[in-house]
Order: sequence, then C-alpha cells, then structure tokens
Amino acid sequence: MFAQSQPLLNLRYEENYSPTYDEVIEMYQKLDSHYENTVLLEKGLTDSGKPLHLFVINNDPEFDPEKIKAQGKAVLLINNGIHAGEPAGIDASLQFADDILRNKNGMAALLENTVVAIIPVYSVGGLLNRSAFHRANQTTPAETGFRGNAANLDLNRDFTKCDSENTKSFTRIFQEWDPDVFLDTHTTNGSDHQYSVTLIAPQPDVFPPAQGKFIREKMLPELYIQMKKGKYELIPYVDWFYEDPRDGIKMTLESPRYSSGYSRMFNTYGMMTENLIYKPFPDRVKSTYQFIQTLAEFTAENAAEIIDSRKKSRTATMALQNYPLTYELDSTRFSRIEFKGYEVERNQISKVTGLPRFGYDTSRPFTDSINYYDVYKPAETIPVPEYYILPQAWAGVVERLELNQVEFSRLENDTVLEVQVDYIENFTNPPRPYNGHFFHGEVETRSEMQKIQYYAGDLVIRVRQKKLAYLVEMLEPRAADSFFRWNFFDAILDSREYFSSYGFEENALKYLDEHPEFKAAFQKKQQTDAEFARDHRAQLAWIYNNSEWAEESYRRYPVGRIF
Ligand SMILES: [Zn+2]
Repeated sequence: MFAQSQPLLNLRYEENYSPTYDEVIEMYQKLDSHYENTVLLEKGLTDSGKPLHLFVINNDPEFDPEKIKAQGKAVLLINNGIHAGEPAGIDASLQFADDILRNKNGMAALLENTVVAIIPVYSVGGLLNRSAFHRANQTTPAETGFRGNAANLDLNRDFTKCDSENTKSFTRIFQEWDPDVFLDTHTTNGSDHQYSVTLIAPQPDVFPPAQGKFIREKMLPELYIQMKKGKYELIPYVDWFYEDPRDGIKMTLESPRYSSGYSRMFNTYGMMTENLIYKPFPDRVKSTYQFIQTLAEFTAENAAEIIDSRKKSRTATMALQNYPLTYELDSTRFSRIEFKGYEVERNQISKVTGLPRFGYDTSRPFTDSINYYDVYKPAETIPVPEYYILPQAWAGVVERLELNQVEFSRLENDTVLEVQVDYIENFTNPPRPYNGHFFHGEVETRSEMQKIQYYAGDLVIRVRQKKLAYLVEMLEPRAADSFFRWNFFDAILDSREYFSSYGFEENALKYLDEHPEFKAAFQKKQQTDAEFARDHRAQLAWIYNNSEWAEESYRRYPVGRIF
C-alpha cells in the first residue's frame, strides 16, 4: 500500500545463502500482500506438479497485458532459475522488486513507462532438488538447485520442442505478455577474467533492420556505458574464437531452442546475463541487480522506440520474399573492445594431482584491446511460401503452433492440393539421446511438386502473419531447431509396407508382362550389372522401388508449401 523506507525482505546473499523455493515464493507473497500495485500470479504448471509463478510490478493495480500495452507501456520480462544451480538472478530479482516497490532512490519512476514481470523460479523442480554438490566448479552459495528440471530436462534447450510443462506454461506467459524486452539470468564457468557479469546480447544482424540498427547503435552501447558508470562493468559473454581471449572473442548467436533465440522469433529484444562462476556469490547477485536496473531504466527511457521498432520489424518481415534460414559468423569483420583479463598459465602445478594444469593467474590482471567478431551474415536463404499445409495427424506440432498463438484455418472438405513437398534425402542421429531426443544434426532435402490428398480439418497456415519467423523456422525442416530436427516427424523416416522375396513373385511377374518398357529396362540392368544379375532380392527390390509400389510417403516431409 505504502512505500516502505526499509526493505521488506530479508535476503542473505551476503552470507552466501540463496533462498529455497518455498522461501522465494513466501517473499513474493509478502510483497504482493503489502503493495497493491503488484501481483503474484500462478500461470499453469511445471513438471514438478507445482505452479509456475509470475510476479507483475506496475505503477497502478492494472495487470491485464492488453490494457497495459494500450497505454503505450513497454513490458520487461525477467526469467530466473532456468538452471537452478545458477541462482544469482533469483536473489537479484527479489532485491530489485523489494527496492522498486519501496521506491528506493526514486527507482519507481521507471514504472510510468514500463511494467516489470518476473518469473521468480522457472525450473521449480530444479530448485527443489537442492544440494551443496550440484555445481562442481562453483564455491558459493553454500547450496543450490540442479541443472535438470523435475523431468531431468535442460529447460534452456526446450523453448521450441516444448517437452516440459514448464515450457508450455512459459510459452503461454510469453505469448500473452509479448514482452518487448526479455532477460534470462544464468551463471557460466567459462574462462576467468575480471568481470562478474557478462552479456549474451540480442545479435543485431539476425533481427530485421529496424531492430538491428536499434540494437547495434543504441541499445548495446548504452547498456555497456551505463554499466561502466556503476560498480560492475559489463563485457560480452566470452565466446571462444581463438584459444586466448587476447586473440579475439566472438559475439554469441543462439538458435531458437535457447531463450534468446526463441524470443528473437517474436521480435522481442531477448538476452541472457552470464555471471562468472569464479566470482563470490554476493558480487554475482549485485552485478546482476545492477544490470536489471540498467536494463529496466533503458527500457523505460526508450519505451516508445522499442515498441515502434518491433512493430516496423514485424511489418517488414511479413513482406519478405526470401527468408534467411541460417547465419554464419563473418570472420573478416570485427570491432575493438577493451578486455580486462588474467594472464593465462599453461603449466601451473596442480595441488590435487601434482601435475601441470591449465589456469589463470589472478594476481596478474591485464587490460588490453581485443578483436570482437560481432557480424553475422546469412548462410542460406529460402523463398517464403504463401501457405503451409499441415495434416492434423501431426498433433504434437499442431499443439505447439496453438501454444504460440499461430493463426490458421482448417480445410472444410477432403481436398487434393498441388503442393511443394520435401523428401528427406539424408539425416544424422547422435549415438545417444540429447535432452530426450535423437536430434537430427545434418539434414538434406529435395523438393518436388505433388498432388496430395488432404482431409477436412487439416491446417491451412497463412505464412504472412505476425508469427512468420516462428513458422518458417519451425516448419522448414533444415532450419536450426525445426520440429523435424527434434523428431516430431520421425514416423516418416521408415517405410510401412514392403515386399517379401517369396510373396512378391507373382505380382512382379505380372507387372513386367504388362509394362514392356519397364521390363526392357529391367532386362538391360540384368545384362549389364553382373552382381545385380546374381541377386534375387536386389532384382525384386528394383521392381518394387521403381514402380507404383514404391511408397510415396516414405521420407516425404508432411508439410506442403504453396507459393
Ligand atoms: Zn545457465
């Protein structure tokens, strides 16, 4: 109700203690009951059976996203504990909520232009599974949650395949609130350096021009400058390009299975903080807090431009004739950035094994200028179809399109349509499952036109809609995280009918007699291919595979395109 001069919450990150799941929810409930301009919502379930919470902070008691957006306010969504062993964002968001609600240093002013929505804990099952031994490279806090959720899934690989209840609930929140800016908080054990917090930023080149320009020329420079004014400086996430960061680092580009890649498909300015694991937990929390505050202020100050650039981008995307399906780093282009590192030591002697080890000498810090490879270019571009036709048989895909609020109609009658279809010419599987799937790493396709029988109720999806990027990137089989790659269409990859070496005899003979040209080709092969001539089964297979018996649907990707 009233602004507190003192904090309401008793956070203990200075003591290397991060709250349990129950303590986190209790603290948000406390804020919710004390302030009327905030609400703690339960938004569907997680795999643990417990709800996914969303905490919304506005400057008045209005929590309907449509009404809030109609006021011209920007929405900032912050996701915490996706990896529950990386809890700095959980503590930092609690501290931020407590401070902004009591209007510490006038912070609440930013709520005039921006609503802040916080997912307190995303991997609820991960945080409930608490131990001092989950994070081998991390010394603080004393105990943390676990990387896998209740179903042992890595939720930061689940944004498109959407296996978990957590992701389904998250998708509903994301599509309902359509955040303008999105932050997902993490901790990394990459190379050691002097920074407590690093940023996986939205990659400007993979956004439409209106947003790409805004990211490169305004958003990123401003975030780095503002952070430098505070106690904790920000550096790009140290993505290795060469072995030593002094030889350059590259800007990270994440595909849609990750939070930043997923949010990009909906024109959301999505990013991840990666705290450095080797820094003390209190610093990780405070540097993440400083980034959240910086990002919230930037969002509030630029709300109109953020909203407008997203709108322009959506309009531009809907008019695209060709869509860049994949990108690659342009290794010839880079900028120069200041980097504060530690000298690499390749032959330190391990106190554990007595053997040489790789390490960093934190007593020898350096500041140097390094190459930052931050330009990506399209690798493969494909023409945008006007429609996708999706048979309703593929219910798992239909469910995910609905979750992501894709608009489609359904065929009213059984209909034959002439469409472009792909055959899967080649694909690879990993030797062991990855997050519950045999992800197809390499996919080669061949297209052809066919008349295909569809049925009443099959989906007709107009591609030129707000969700164009999502549609193309999920339904084009060669896209980085397509439904095809994640096994949603694997039933097409083996044949259902076949011939027996004994049973096919009479039909094969009859077919040869009734098709003289076919028979001549068959006999020519018998005469010119000695191995073939000696192989009974190979000859029957030739007849089967080159006649109408061959299964047209075998390896035919079921989503048709109409141009
Ligand atoms: Zn993480």
